[in-house]
Amino acid sequence: MNSSLNAARRARELAETRDLVVDVLVVGLGATGAGAALDAASRGLSVAAIDAHDMAFGTSRWSSKMIHGGLRYLARGQVGVAYESAVERGHLLGRTAPHLVRAYPYLLPLVPEVSRRHAALVMTGYRLGDGLRAAARTPRHLLPGPSRISAARTLALASPLGSRGLRGALLSWDGRLADDARLVVTVARTAAAHGARILTRCRALELSGDGALVRDELGGDTFTIRARTVVNATGVWAAGLHPGIRLRPSRGTHLVLRPETLPGLTAGLHVPIPGESNRFALVLPQPDGRVHVGLTDEPADGPVPDVPQVPEEDVTFLLAVLNSVLEEPVRREDVAGTYAGLRPLLAAEGRSADLSRRHALLTRPDGLVTIVGGKLTTYRRMAEDAVDRAVSLGRLDAGRSRTAELPLVGAVPDGPGGGGNADGEGVRGAGRSLRRYGSEAGAVRALMAEDPWLAEPGPAGVTGAELVWAVRHEGALNVDDLLDRRTRVGLVPQDRAAALPLARAALAY
Ligand SMILES: Cc1cc2nc3c(=O)[nH]c(=O)nc-3n(C[C@H](O)[C@H](O)[C@H](O)COP(=O)(O)OP(=O)(O)OC[C@H]3O[C@@H](n4cnc5c(N)ncnc54)[C@H](O)[C@@H]3O)c2cc1C
Repeated sequence: MNSSLNAARRARELAETRDLVVDVLVVGLGATGAGAALDAASRGLSVAAIDAHDMAFGTSRWSSKMIHGGLRYLARGQVGVAYESAVERGHLLGRTAPHLVRAYPYLLPLVPEVSRRHAALVMTGYRLGDGLRAAARTPRHLLPGPSRISAARTLALASPLGSRGLRGALLSWDGRLADDARLVVTVARTAAAHGARILTRCRALELSGDGALVRDELGGDTFTIRARTVVNATGVWAAGLHPGIRLRPSRGTHLVLRPETLPGLTAGLHVPIPGESNRFALVLPQPDGRVHVGLTDEPADGPVPDVPQVPEEDVTFLLAVLNSVLEEPVRREDVAGTYAGLRPLLAAEGRSADLSRRHALLTRPDGLVTIVGGKLTTYRRMAEDAVDRAVSLGRLDAGRSRTAELPLVGAVPDGPGGGGNADGEGVRGAGRSLRRYGSEAGAVRALMAEDPWLAEPGPAGVTGAELVWAVRHEGALNVDDLLDRRTRVGLVPQDRAAALPLARAALAY
């Protein structure tokens, strides 16, 4: 079946879904829900998957885009969580999404605030992380091991660092996504290729084990989707549909710096947070040239907003940590955008930075399965667990999960020109379009030949062809979908405003 999502397919499949009883109804199209839709559809089950807004509307688009090997969990003694992360990272790098996930280098600058003892401890952690990589059978050519590098090499990789007192850096590698929202859309399209009905702008008003009361947010009418099993994958909103679940959301904020703000930064940075032994701020150069700086971890109690706001104190805090290692400080006016996401953590005692990132499956007596917690890296495993539970509760006729081996749409098979690698390019020789579209890059380029304006780079380098592609094949229904999720132009409000005419033209093309 075709992986293309668009307004016509949505309308057709929405109409069909009203007359069916599907095997699995998935509610929420973040990484977890899109993963569940793919897991179920690729086992041969009939699937409808709905989102109140758009694919990747929630937390999944506000991440740091890291595909972690689980080092942080290892440091807390959560060996199982760490191993699971390392295994999932290996699947993404090596087989399922080598076009979207690649190895990326990070430097921990050895500044005077990092004592020799602290550096030795961190290096031991990195080596254990490398052991996890080996245990997860991820080859070294996909993910190199850690090393200590000289001050000169550190400055060659990251010239904005201050040289005074710099003893060198610890160099480590981890997985990195080209873009988190793109992963979600790609997983959902792969699910669609296996027959899942991906229905955005359909809000679940009430859930039970055998279906949902749903409102079409475009048409305005309310109807029922009947299902043999229901998976609630609404992340930080899950408790609204499954009363009794207690979540303790935690806010993570990132700053977005313009491309020219930190010239000469070719690796990510782990910047020690003063007074904390095992927490670091992250400086993350992006494929579009912008640099993201994160990450706070603050309890965010109270009503859950659609889009979390960034308090000014988060900006001040992140700038102070960043500037503690730079030669020239970054000023408030260099911050072109900010974003925050809420981690869907299960309530427990303790600081939110210490709450387990392990996922949890909760089942209601009527058969509703809710999956929460976890992280982007482990979305596939979370989805597998949720669908296993649904299959057993609904006594569905389905085999085992196939997703660990199933390439996502656009995945380039191993071999010349393909496969993730650690030389800084996810696909050898890849430019922007290969990293984002993989094997579909040629089709996006062919669109550019249709009309000269489609090839013209607009704000943040986005082209009309990419936007038209998103309308025809990636389910974008309006300018918000185009600028805030299919591309990330919208992370900088000024770029977003400048790109609006291009987005409108793409929708009308
Ligand atoms: C700041 C931050 C940084 C992070 N960085 C990383 C990282 O680098 N690496 C990593 O592995 N993990 C990271 N995480 C964790 C990871 O992003 C999340 O665990 C993951 O994205 C959660 O995905 P989800 O699909 O469960 O939820 P979401 O992505 O929030 O999806 C839930 C969906 O449900 C929909 N929905 C809600 N209510 C309804 C309804 N009534 N009807 C229909 N649909 C509904 C929403 O619109 C939304 O699209 C980070 C988290 C945060 C907050």
